[in-house]
Amino acid sequence: MTSIINKFRTAFIFQFLLYGLCAFGQVSTAQSSIHQSIQSKTDEIFDSLVEIRRDFHKYPEVSEKEEKTSQKIEDYLLSLGLEVKTNIGGYGVVGILKGEKEGKRVAWRADIDAISSDLPDVVHFESQNEGVRHICGHDVHITIGLGIANVLASLKENLQGSVYFVFQPAEEMNKGAKGMVDDGLFKLINPDEIYGLHMSPYPVGTIATKSENVYAHFTFMEIEFKAPKDQESLINYTKQIMRSAQTYGPNAKFWNNENLFSTELGVTNPNTIYKDYVALMSDFSIEKSNERVKLGVLVDASNEEKLNEYLALIKNEIETSRYSEELISVKFNFEEGMPVMETPMNDRELTDETLKSISNIYGKQSVIPLYGVPPLQFSDDFAHFQKFVPGVYYFLGGSNSEKGIVAMPHTPNFAVDEDAIKTGVNYFSSMIVERLKK
Ligand SMILES: [Zn+2]
Ligand SMILES: [Zn+2]
Repeated sequence: MTSIINKFRTAFIFQFLLYGLCAFGQVSTAQSSIHQSIQSKTDEIFDSLVEIRRDFHKYPEVSEKEEKTSQKIEDYLLSLGLEVKTNIGGYGVVGILKGEKEGKRVAWRADIDAISSDLPDVVHFESQNEGVRHICGHDVHITIGLGIANVLASLKENLQGSVYFVFQPAEEMNKGAKGMVDDGLFKLINPDEIYGLHMSPYPVGTIATKSENVYAHFTFMEIEFKAPKDQESLINYTKQIMRSAQTYGPNAKFWNNENLFSTELGVTNPNTIYKDYVALMSDFSIEKSNERVKLGVLVDASNEEKLNEYLALIKNEIETSRYSEELISVKFNFEEGMPVMETPMNDRELTDETLKSISNIYGKQSVIPLYGVPPLQFSDDFAHFQKFVPGVYYFLGGSNSEKGIVAMPHTPNFAVDEDAIKTGVNYFSSMIVERLKK
């Protein structure tokens, strides 16, 4: 999960999520034997997976430096008997599991890098690499990827088709996915579908997602003018049109973070207030000189169309205003040299089908359908893979209110209930098996 929350004002929030969502229930009993085999195998290797996760947690490596991490991944995949390719787009690793019969090809992606952080770890298996921490949960992502590989390798005789395990570096820099693709990933493997997950503050035992985008679309909008005589009027005019064109007024419930995950208004309600919006998410930055005036502001939208409509509207307003002569440019970007953020876009059909199949096998309470996106500035370059292969990006619940664990990525107290490893391995091993049958 890439974030620009350090740069812009974005308050904190996700604790609220723990209220109002149901707890994890019992696994449904009506299920076929392959899913029972998956769960037995997961139970059998669970303790070893926890150990593996803690080892990754103790020795985190930042983006583009994941050398030891990728070595451990390679060793594990080789020990399962998978064909393994390494050094793809940096320290990327791919494991190939071929079933006994020909069939469909499904890819599972896990990101593997950690983050620079000097804050102390909140767990007893704290980071031994000074200044580096796994506070985005990628240690858990790697472990779940390896766990699914292990479970499915043990069921190889029953599998039709191939499963590709894509371990991606440099996600936090928003460039590892592109790096792997540019380095020929899709010449090595040719998946029909691709899936991946991210740790999230939803309750342990659950997964959540929606079709299409799962994060807000956002951009930093910059408008530059030749300085008029009365600079203040120009600045006030521009602020006023930009503010009045956003969907929510200053006192709307939209701005109260406690509503993000409330059952009535939040993203889990079909009528959520977070499904159709454009909102200004930062104060205006203003640069003035005798020649130029430049205003900048961060804009979030519930989807790409909304964002583009808003940007076009503002541009048109200014171009047809009394300041049209002064306008130099309207730009949308972050900063020089920063790659454009792509947002994961989930395939509608695959989202519906996979949520249905997980819910059928593990019970309705295991799946939280989402209907909106929080106005935050997160992204994940899993989006880049989805440009080539249809797929779904899920949030995996890692919080446990009873244990005081809040799995909110990029926060100092980020922690994960390790039962989430079991959930991830079970649900997604089953999901992949079901996809291969299609
Ligand atoms: Zn992250
Ligand atoms: Zn992440």
